[in-house]
Amino acid sequence: MKIICIGRNYINHVKELNHSIPTVPLFFLKPETALILRNRPFFYPEFSKNIHFETEIVLKINKVGRHIQEKFAHTYYDEIGIGIDFTARDLQNECIKSGNPWEISKAFDYSAPIGKFIPKSEFSDLNNINFSLLINNEIKQKGNTKNMIFSFDRIISYVSQFLMLKIGDLVFTGTPAGVGPVKIGDRLEAFIDDRKLLDFKIK
Ligand code: MG
Repeated sequence: MKIICIGRNYINHVKELNHSIPTVPLFFLKPETALILRNRPFFYPEFSKNIHFETEIVLKINKVGRHIQEKFAHTYYDEIGIGIDFTARDLQNECIKSGNPWEISKAFDYSAPIGKFIPKSEFSDLNNINFSLLINNEIKQKGNTKNMIFSFDRIISYVSQFLMLKIGDLVFTGTPAGVGPVKIGDRLEAFIDDRKLLDFKIK
């Protein structure tokens, strides 16, 4: 399986990092080895001094598809969850500055903890889903999917022009404003509405 991650999909986050607003969805990949499952801890890696959390709604692909039309995209996912797109911000900034690929800052081992998934049918409006992150009981990020630049269906349609989607692939759909560093000892809890779906520690 693969993990597709959308960058710069919430205007308030694009602004906090001083990036330009994209005209098409921007995406990159993480490998399967990036996953952290079942609330296992994240071990702070030695290669970075500035690991940032990015809290994101995650879609789970349930059907093989290529060149998916936007109007049919909703039939390619039926579960929604939440995950953290861990980013070595120090390495990423160097990669961006030098124009080099940024996998070392985004695709490293255990850079993608994910929580439990909820059936899509439980949401009355996919374009109005609240989600949030608590660190040590303090609210750090709050988002609502109505503020996405590109909808879930637009993302799936666009990405599938280039990459075949396969069953079990995950799509991280971008982070709202409020990203910041984690440190050893932190406890991260991520919620969709009031439902806690992810709860793990930094070690
Ligand atoms: Mg991200």
